[in-house]
Amino acid sequence: MRELEEKILAEGRAVSEDILKVDSFINHQVEPALMKRMGEAFAAHFEGRGITKVVTIESSGITPALMTALALDVPMIIFKKQPSKILNDDLYQTVVTSYTKETSYELTLSKKYISENDHVLIIDDFLANGEAATGVLRLLRKAHATVAGFGVLIEKSFQPGRAKLEEQGIDVYALARIGKMSAGHIEFLPEK
Ligand code: 5GP
Repeated sequence: MRELEEKILAEGRAVSEDILKVDSFINHQVEPALMKRMGEAFAAHFEGRGITKVVTIESSGITPALMTALALDVPMIIFKKQPSKILNDDLYQTVVTSYTKETSYELTLSKKYISENDHVLIIDDFLANGEAATGVLRLLRKAHATVAGFGVLIEKSFQPGRAKLEEQGIDVYALARIGKMSAGHIEFLPEK
């Protein structure tokens, strides 16, 4: 998506060769009109696939997921990060290793909100190593739901996330794909 690429070039900041800060329009301050257009782009790409729910992980996935769910006119579900390992029969739980924070967290989903009747679209802000998305897939499998695809605002294509998801048969769609970056320099790959 040209508009997102231009925004990343104007306001994104590569703090190293593998971490991009986009705090001024995605992760800290949010630009609603751009988010709305990005949600509509996901909805247009995945339209007609029988999606019943859009899911995401708190917190940065919530805004793009909400805009996508609004455009598809389906509910959105937030998978929660919980620090403790308290077992709870009402929840599906799995451990995920966080890319940016180098820590692990418990990802949880209430059994109430996803069932075997659901065909789910996963939305997130970044795709790096694919750990967060793989955690979501584990929980969706526990719930016996099927997966329509994974939509992400920014894919760092030099990291293995896309390959990991495609190996599991997941259709990955990224609005911006970064092939290479370093301080002051960002190169994009064609959208896919
Ligand atoms: P993964 O699980 O694919 O390794 O990492 C995805 C998660 O880590 C995303 O949900 C995002 O929150 C965070 N993340 C990964 N890479 C970056 C990055 O370069 N910048 C920011 N702001 N977040 C990132």
